Formats: sequence, C-alpha cells, structure tokens
Amino acid sequence: MSPRTKPAAAHDTDDLLAAIEAIVGAENVLREPEDMQPYLVEWRDRYVGQARAIVRPSNTGEVSSVMALAHEAGQPIVPQGGNTGLVGGQIPAGGGDEIVLSLARLNRIRDIDTLGDTMTVEAGCVLEAIHEAAEVVERMFPLSLGAQGSCMIGGNLASNAGGTAVLAYGNARDLTLGLEVVLADGRVWNGLRALKKDNTGYDLKDLFIGSEGTLGIITAAVIKLFPKPRATATAFVGVASVEAALNLLNDTRAAVGGALTAFEFMPRIGIEFVLRHVQGSRDPLEAEHPWYVLMELSSGIEESLDETLETILGGGYERGNVVDATVAKSHAEAQALWRMRLMLSEVQKHEGGSIKHDVAVPVARMGEFVRAASELVAGMVPGCRPVPFGHLGDGNVHFNVSQPPGADREAFLAQWERVNDAVHDLVMTFGGSVSAEHGIGQMKRSLLRRIKDPVEYDLMKTLKSALDPKGLLNPGKVL
Ligand code: FAD
Ligand code: ZN
Repeated sequence: MSPRTKPAAAHDTDDLLAAIEAIVGAENVLREPEDMQPYLVEWRDRYVGQARAIVRPSNTGEVSSVMALAHEAGQPIVPQGGNTGLVGGQIPAGGGDEIVLSLARLNRIRDIDTLGDTMTVEAGCVLEAIHEAAEVVERMFPLSLGAQGSCMIGGNLASNAGGTAVLAYGNARDLTLGLEVVLADGRVWNGLRALKKDNTGYDLKDLFIGSEGTLGIITAAVIKLFPKPRATATAFVGVASVEAALNLLNDTRAAVGGALTAFEFMPRIGIEFVLRHVQGSRDPLEAEHPWYVLMELSSGIEESLDETLETILGGGYERGNVVDATVAKSHAEAQALWRMRLMLSEVQKHEGGSIKHDVAVPVARMGEFVRAASELVAGMVPGCRPVPFGHLGDGNVHFNVSQPPGADREAFLAQWERVNDAVHDLVMTFGGSVSAEHGIGQMKRSLLRRIKDPVEYDLMKTLKSALDPKGLLNPGKVL
C-alpha cells in the first residue's frame, strides 16, 4: 500500500470540515451518526464503516476544491456512488478518520448527441435514469444489472460493472468513450472526448475505469448509445445440465450471431427462492428442472423474432438440450421472466447467510467447475445450499452458497474466508478469475496479492503512487 499521511489532529479536522462546508454548504456535510449511517453500511450489512463526515458536492468544481483541501490536509477520502458495490469498496475501511465523498448530487445529464450516439453524464446519474433518458431519444444504453435502480454511473465505471448485456455489448469499459476525473490533488482532467478513434498516447480513461476509487474521482463520462432494438424475443428454458445450456448457447450463436443479447443461467433452488420471497412471482414452467436459461434475442429491424426463437428451441429439444421452454408473448411477460433472474441476488438475503464468489472460468468448463465447487463446499459445510447463477455466455458465475436451513447465520458466515479460499483455489486451477465483475474492494485485497503476477502487482503499485502519492484515495482498498 502507498504510504499514508498521518491523519490530521482533531482541531485541524474541524478547520478542514469548516472549509469544506464553505465550499459545498453546511447542509451537505453530514456529521451526525444517524445522518451518516446510510453511507456507512452496505445493503447486506457485511461492511459497516466509520467516518469523520459525509461530504456531498454538487459539481466538478466543488469536488476539485474539496480534493485540493483534503490533499493539503492529508485527509483520506472514500468516493461513493449508489453504495451497491459488493466488495466493500465504497465503505471506509479505517478507524473513522476518513471522509466519504458522495457523488450523488452530480446527477445531471449534460448532453445527448443522437448523431454521434453519445450521452455525457455526471457520475451521480442513477443507471436507470440513464436508461430512461436514452429511451426518450429512441436509443439504448445497454449496461444492465440488478442494482440499476440505485447504482450510479460513476460507481459502474469505477468498478467496471458487467451485468446481463456483456455478451452483446461488453462491460462498462467497452461502453465508455471519455471521462472527466478529479485527481488526488484536486486537479481536473478533462478527458470528455466523444471519439471512437484516438490513438494519442496512453489511454488514461481505461486506467481510471475499474480502479475502484483508488486513482481518481470520476465526475463525468461520455458513454455510448445504441439504436433501440425494434424487436426482442425472450425465452425461459428448462435444461438438464449446464453442458446442455452451453450446447444451446453454441447453437443459438451459430444461428443468430450477434442477435443473441442475453444468456443467463440459474439453478432450481434460485427459482424456489424467488417464488418464496417475491410477491406475485410464478413458476414459468410446469415441471421442475435442475437448471434454467433466460435467453433473449434482439434485432434492429422491425420483425418478429418469436419464430426464430421457436425454431432454435425446437432444434434444442430435438438435440436433447432443451427439456421445456416458454417464450414471452408480451413485454409484460418478458419482464416477468427477467424478474426471475434479476431478483436472484436479493432473495438470497431472505434465506439467511450467503457466502459469495464472483468468479469466471473458461466458458466450456463451466459445468465441470460448478460440480467441483458444489462438491467442495458440501464437504466443508454439510447441508449448505450452493446457488450458482449468472452470465453463462461470459463464463461468469456467481457461485453463492446459502447457509443450511435453520443453521446459525453468524456461525455460517464465520466460515466465509475458509470457503472463499478453497473456492478461489479451485478457480485458479481452472485458469479462471477470482473477481469477474465486482472488483477487489476490501474483500479481496489480500487475495489480489496472492494471485497476481508479481510484476503486474508491482506495476499497479507504481501507478497508485504516481497518481496518489499520499495514499489518500480509498485507502485499504484494492492494493
Ligand atoms: P458504489 O458501491 O458506491 O462504489 C463502488 C466502488 O466504486 C467503490 O470502490 C467506490 O469507492 C467507487 N466509486 C463510486 N463512485 C465513484 C466515482 N464517481 N469515482 C471514483 N470511484 C467511485 N455488478 C456487476 O458488475 N454486475 C452485476 O450483474 C451486478 N449485479 C448486482 C446486483 C445487485 C442487487 C447489487 C446490489 C449489486 C450488483 N453489482 C453488479 C455490483 C455492482 O458493482 C454495483 O451495483 C455497481 O456497479 C456499483 O455502483 P454504485 O454506484 O453503487 O457504486
Ligand atoms: Zn453479475
């Protein structure tokens, strides 16, 4: 980790906070515990932090001034967007000497360019609000994830979020053309370029994307828009195994290529969790199946894709890859099918403790991995309930493990590290990644050191000390 400057003494802190109040207004510097609480606890209660204050600037200039003051005073800063991150990156990890910098008030859409198909957004724009703004001009911003009603684009970019549309459109990195970033010392880098081609030296934007608030504060971005699909078709498919799902994926790609825009997989137990905890949900298929696939086709031209989808599913049935399937007959039906998938993260909360893994393995070996990992955790915690689901087309599985029914939640969660270590070791033997899309944060910090190539790790530290020489940006995270 970079050297930490000694924290300021209490009276210096009061001076610093007074100076910050003069910039953002006293009402945007929260100091009372009950006001700070929502910013210091993540939604699963796994990370609970302490802070000197929560600071809520409203524009880039204010962020810049606050950062310049913090730099001078040696004040550590934790950037935060929608507080939906899953690795504790947005929650202070220190003993209470940090300031949380909330970007929520930077929530303007600065520009929409329908000729160049770009949108310039501030960091605090909620992802769903961006979807809606794109919709108004008959465009689409494809980044989609379960937290889209609360996560913010700055957080999405800082964590290089993935989600359900990576298969066709790539992750947050692939959807970004330019960035505006406030550096650790308060300087503003205006990289808000809307160019598809720009080979003028190092690509700094790609350095900040995925840096989880450790290299700079993202204040705005130029993101790519896409034509709104004119037709979509959605199916919910029961399959006997992950291998059968993979065969179906392969056949579908061969048949429609880029028109396959989602291919998500879920186990039966995940469906049961949704049926149990989401009001109004119903089982899409009559019989129970060990695995399910949610697949979506999209087209830019006005056509019915239902027939194409039915043909693909018919072929899958003949080849023994599909056991049963339903195709949505309306937008509402498609949404109900999507809800089965998107509620999966949340419903696990209602089943007690859940030990999480966000991992990637080569697509072709997903079935083998899921079996091996399930056996592994069953041996470690008898009665535990693996809930492996996710983005099959990307080789990304959320290998989550729910506690045995009726077991003590805390005792189960106490095994988090032990179970994580074993599963991550297994992932490495598959040539996989221990963080496919959620990042490193505080959760996987020690793991990073263990698995990274030493030269790569060294280069990361070099970059960190060049951009944040005082080690004030999100200390205790990533490195
Ligand atoms: P926060 O949680 O506030 O912050 C995340 C990280 O970014 C922290 O390290 C923080 O310090 C940093 N940060 C935030 N804003 C800035 C900024 N402006 N500048 C610099 N650093 C900043 N992720 C996926 O990739 N795919 C999924 O499918 C997915 N599904 C999810 C489903 C649910 C129900 C939930 C709760 C989360 C899911 N996530 C998923 C996690 C995902 O990373 C976050 O939801 C989202 O991308 C983070 O955005 P946020 O605004 O909440 O960021
Ligand atoms: Zn995911």
